Amino acid sequence: MAVGGDVNEPILFSRPFRSPLEKANLAAVIDSDHVHGDGSFTASASAKIAALSDVEHVLLTTSGTHALEMAVRLLDVGAGDEVIVPSFTFTSGANSIVATGGVPVFVDIEGNTGNIDPSLVEAAITPKTKAISVMHYGGVPVDMPAILDIARRHGLTVIEDNAHGLGVKTPFGTLGSVGDIAIQSFHDTKNVHSGEGGAVLISNPKLRERAEIMREKGTNRSKFLRGQVDKYSWVDWGSSYLPSELNAAVLDSQLDSFDAIQARRHEIWNAYQEGLGEWAASAEVSLMTPPGGIHAAHVFFMVMPSEVARDAALTHTRAHGVVSTFHYVPLHTSAAGQKFGRTAGSLAKTDAFSGRLLRLPLWTGMSEAQVTKVIDTMKRFPFPTH
Ligand SMILES: *Cc1c(COP(=O)(O)O)cnc(C)c1O
Repeated sequence: MAVGGDVNEPILFSRPFRSPLEKANLAAVIDSDHVHGDGSFTASASAKIAALSDVEHVLLTTSGTHALEMAVRLLDVGAGDEVIVPSFTFTSGANSIVATGGVPVFVDIEGNTGNIDPSLVEAAITPKTKAISVMHYGGVPVDMPAILDIARRHGLTVIEDNAHGLGVKTPFGTLGSVGDIAIQSFHDTKNVHSGEGGAVLISNPKLRERAEIMREKGTNRSKFLRGQVDKYSWVDWGSSYLPSELNAAVLDSQLDSFDAIQARRHEIWNAYQEGLGEWAASAEVSLMTPPGGIHAAHVFFMVMPSEVARDAALTHTRAHGVVSTFHYVPLHTSAAGQKFGRTAGSLAKTDAFSGRLLRLPLWTGMSEAQVTKVIDTMKRFPFPTH
């Protein structure tokens, strides 16, 4: 595990996890003649992700962003097609749609989870709608039965952006296995990482073969490597979405530590929840409360009573050596969101959530002293009186 570091130094918002085997794995790749993609570490990491996610077919990609691009293209979203997305998400959720000439249609979130509000999705559907792309914020499950019901009734496909929620079990299945296609990110800010990296998780069998082709420069090289065809050639549109074995080697070693990573992150998350509960109640701060207690311990957030209080809390914590942040400037208010997308209905909850959100440092290697310091610093926050 990563070493927490000196409690007197600023506590960073996020630090990459270091796994015991990653240097040995990297050396093994460098000493081999297989440094390009789809070697033994890619196979091993893919199998581990598949097992964690209850999905049969997993393809590693160079990033979560590229995985989203693949997902949108595999669902045949083209010029003028609409895809419903939350405005409260990472830019790649919308960029992936715009990359194909499609139009992101922004829908509001639930005020408690930050997830897309399924009750608003149906009103956003038009004859041009092709797909619904949801994001499980912090690995808190979107109400997928409601989303799948709408999708089924309107003949739409469903993408799960599960960048935060690898391996999260829910009563309706494991996140990443519920929609037609899902993505993971292995950026080094995520629970498990390979520096940069991602994966496509395919549940709809119709998408499998084209996904392999798309990832391998539009060729049927994967079939060739399995001995299913005697030469490979250009068969469809594609790009180079596969990571090298160096990335896969790091990812594979990190996945070996998955249970330990999750256990430690949940400990820290629980310490925040317990340590800040009374303070939050007395200060009209809403701590993250995932329905059913289901989440990935990827983020710990709180919603402050006002934007003024949130901004002051960012300044206060940073001045005391705790790097808290906020994120997701709503896409519908961003320059590119206004240029490429459209809104469906009010986005008042998105604006309020994003304006008042505060996130605390949460990473596997944090020490007890650091966790305590974060809690104490938060409790000493002098709320602005105006
Ligand atoms: C990290 C992230 C991604 C993808 O990020 P990459 O850096 O491209 O791997 C996509 N969606 C969400 C919600 C994310 O947090």
